[in-house]
Amino acid sequence: MLDGTMIAEQIKKEVKRDVEHLVSEHDVKPCLAAIRVGDDAASAVYVRNKIRACEEVGIRSEHHALPATTNAIELLDLIMSLNRRGDVDGILVQLPLPGEIDESAIIEAIDPEKDVDGFHPVNVGRLSMGRPTFAPCTPAGIIELLVRNKVAIAGANACVVGRSQIVGRPMAQLLLQRDATVTICHSRTLDLATVTRQADLLIVAIGRPGLIGREHIKSGATVIDVGMNRITDEATVRQMFGDKAESRLQILAKRGYTLVGDVNPSEADEVAGWRTPVPGGVGLLTVAMLMRNTVNAARQRRGLA
Ligand code: NAP
Repeated sequence: MLDGTMIAEQIKKEVKRDVEHLVSEHDVKPCLAAIRVGDDAASAVYVRNKIRACEEVGIRSEHHALPATTNAIELLDLIMSLNRRGDVDGILVQLPLPGEIDESAIIEAIDPEKDVDGFHPVNVGRLSMGRPTFAPCTPAGIIELLVRNKVAIAGANACVVGRSQIVGRPMAQLLLQRDATVTICHSRTLDLATVTRQADLLIVAIGRPGLIGREHIKSGATVIDVGMNRITDEATVRQMFGDKAESRLQILAKRGYTLVGDVNPSEADEVAGWRTPVPGGVGLLTVAMLMRNTVNAARQRRGLA
């Protein structure tokens, strides 16, 4: 197993040390402003976790929780005011936004130097050119997980399944920068298993519970499961966890759901060399890398990099 929890803790410790240094040597306390619109329960949990991580590492945070009735103009006004403020280093807008607001326009309004999620086209462009930038936190966290576990990236056949803006595409760019030979798959890929079976490094971000099974995985491959799916039925739990299903069935009975990835864990364990668990794999790394990006923003904006 590749333990994301342990690496996330390591990263947060390093960030905490950097924050202490910024405070003691430069009298700078980094600040992250998080914006959330509406009452989406999952978004509320995500933002709460990010704010809690800020407290852990000593980053000052602001939580702008706006009502669901907020329109694009009001949201843009808030972003502009945060862009102008010298004491705010990072701005994140929790997605998804309510349907009538154009997410691209909102992301493009964020000052690229404060875009700690790495979603602004300027930062996406810098990433694709191989220039230093804020890399999106989930794929950046996966690179940390691989590097710190000494999984070879250079020269490896890497396959990324999923081509979203937040995971698949930036993941492919980061692997390319580290000299992997990268293939990207998506819903229109013909014969997915034939392609993924070539991969020494298989990274899956599709949002389809347990879709990747033994037939998709090369023997000894490293499998990174980004998927985060709630399942509510017993049959799927049994199919995914085999003889280890009991503890998951208990969670299901207690909460009414259990969190699973895009990889079938019991089948993957028959063939894979390394695998990330869900939960406990990639999720916590995302938040740790957001902390890292915020401190980097605080340094760069003041010429302290
Ligand atoms: P997304 O925007 O919905 O994109 C899904 C991608 O998967 C698309 O590119 C889609 O292809 C592809 N896809 C869908 N079904 C497929 C299939 N049967 N075969 C091959 N490719 C298929 O998803 P996302 O935002 O990247 O998220 C993916 C998963 O990661 C979700 O479960 C999400 O909850 C999770 N996630 C976790 C974290 C974390 O911190 N752990 C962070 C972000 C996301 P097309 O482009 O052709 O439609």
